[in-house]
Amino acid sequence: MSVALFTLGGTISVTGGARLTGADLTAAVPGLADLPVPLEIQDVEAMPSANLTLAKMLDVVDAASKAISNGATGIVVTQGTDTLEETAFLVDQVWPHSQPFVLTGAMRNPTLAGPDGPANLLAAARVACSPAARDLGAVVVFNDQIHAARWVRKTHSTSTATFASPNAGPIGQLVEGQVRILARPSRQDGVPGRAEPSDLEAARVALYTVTLDDDGVLLAGLADTHQGLIVAGYGVGHVPAVLAPVLGELAERIPVVLTSRTGSGSVLRNTYRSPGSESDLLARGLIAGGFLDPYKARVLLRLLLATGEGRDEINAAFAQHH
Ligand code: GLU
Repeated sequence: MSVALFTLGGTISVTGGARLTGADLTAAVPGLADLPVPLEIQDVEAMPSANLTLAKMLDVVDAASKAISNGATGIVVTQGTDTLEETAFLVDQVWPHSQPFVLTGAMRNPTLAGPDGPANLLAAARVACSPAARDLGAVVVFNDQIHAARWVRKTHSTSTATFASPNAGPIGQLVEGQVRILARPSRQDGVPGRAEPSDLEAARVALYTVTLDDDGVLLAGLADTHQGLIVAGYGVGHVPAVLAPVLGELAERIPVVLTSRTGSGSVLRNTYRSPGSESDLLARGLIAGGFLDPYKARVLLRLLLATGEGRDEINAAFAQHH
């Protein structure tokens, strides 16, 4: 029995010189020795998280699955925080095990006063070996809070309290080193099937954020180059009226998912009626993204397209988030 630790770089590993390895990271956390099970370290690659890809993360999921088959009680991944909300959501869609898959990192690198990496790593390892954290899918453990992958957001560029779940709050906390689960969301259906790297490459999904006085010129010809589109609309899912027919035509050719650019809350489906409103856009064939923010919606649509799911399955997958 062990906790399998996979390291992927990020601020937690950044020093003036070479990046810290898993052995360096764990050596800086004395409390790890008191865990009920040892950590087994696999250094995957040390990189800025901006360079992570869906294919790379799916490789990590495969390696983590192997570790579970070999008896690991849970998984910890350390990586950069910039893309952590997207990688955590991706993992949550494909993680089939009841053992916890925990992602963490740091906002202050180890050369700064009060680095948060060691505390986050210890908290993550505690969650990974806690029976209370089973059947939660992928979680982000940061700043002594436990966040469900489906809700977590990076909300601040520098704060150590950057990770938050604006729609639901954290599902748990660490109190005196003990894992306390406060809310246990039921698991949703993940994406069945295996997304191969070549299928992911071929599943190009654009993200378009609507802005004031938007002419939509960037959208012209998008269906020739992309297989899907996420629209980050105003508020409850609105766009300027001039964009409505453009998006409707795109939705006839590729899945177009409507999300909100606000950062929290759900898009609506049936409240406003004017051209460019949510009900107008849905009538034109757009898919409501519910509570999913644009970034998570993009991960989900890419996965669905890469695994060959059709319109009905895509609709059903997003409907889970209403
Ligand atoms: N915050 C950055 C990230 O998300 C750190 C960049 C780095 O590791 O060089 O990865």
